[in-house]
Amino acid sequence: MQLFQRTLNRTVTCTGIGLHSGKRVNLSLRPADPDTGLVFKRSDLPGAPLIPGDVHHVVDTRFSTTVGQAGVTISTVEHLLSALAGLGVDNALVEVDAPEVPIMDGSSAPFVFLIKSAGLTAQARPRQFYRVKRKVEISEDGKQVSVAPADELSIDFTIEFDHPAIRRQSLGFDWSERDYAREISRARTFGFLSDMRRLHEQNLGLGGSLDNAVVVDKYRVLNDDGLRFPDEFVRHKVLDFLGDLALVGRPILGRFEAYKSGHDLNNKLFKKLLADPQAWQLVTPSLEQATGLEQAASLEQAATGLAPQAAQSAVA
Ligand SMILES: [Zn+2]
Repeated sequence: MQLFQRTLNRTVTCTGIGLHSGKRVNLSLRPADPDTGLVFKRSDLPGAPLIPGDVHHVVDTRFSTTVGQAGVTISTVEHLLSALAGLGVDNALVEVDAPEVPIMDGSSAPFVFLIKSAGLTAQARPRQFYRVKRKVEISEDGKQVSVAPADELSIDFTIEFDHPAIRRQSLGFDWSERDYAREISRARTFGFLSDMRRLHEQNLGLGGSLDNAVVVDKYRVLNDDGLRFPDEFVRHKVLDFLGDLALVGRPILGRFEAYKSGHDLNNKLFKKLLADPQAWQLVTPSLEQATGLEQAASLEQAATGLAPQAAQSAVA
């Protein structure tokens, strides 16, 4: 378990195109101080306004995840956030000169490469985790997502599409930095040809192409090189989920189960979890780390005759 907060060693930059506009976007990832979190900056606007990358600043989840504040927005943040969370980056400043993060190849692998080229540095401030204390769930239109107590982060995801190239796919992922890079980050976003045509007609998704998405028609995958994994679709859903999870603002110790969930329902679950102070507690694993979380909790309980103290006042 990673006990100290981390940031980038140095600033790294890349250029890609925006999914919405189809235009060139420059992206910089910069180191940030402890307890900053993941913060976005629009360098193309006067005063270069900042937008916190947290669940309270999500303003749209229909087409991609958009964060915003005081009328300033940045779209398509989810794959970059996934890479940052997937590699255990707590603090970073994300600067773009457009209203969206570049789509790159539709996965988070280019961002993983970028973050790894910067290198990561541990900061002299411990990480605080949300430790889930009781199960919280939410369901809507046959979709479902829940979180239950666990000592580590894991995600069980199932999707079901009435489509010959997808059908039912399930994946259990126990988070580790290495497995994120290997098993999850290369999975690309996917879309249906009919939806893409409709978006193009509305002047949306102009940058979307076979270069940055798996595209399926009624019967098959249209990309010449096929899929990167036989179950690339569900792997991408786990990638997206980790990006949404990054918006919670602190790492979570819990076991998530999702069935056909998406950005909107994921965010509703996180809000429901945070709004219920009985459902979580903030922990700074140190003693806990030495003896195992559960054991430490019961030791503390035995020593004091009290339930472990939760430090819940500092957060929303
Ligand atoms: Zn995605």
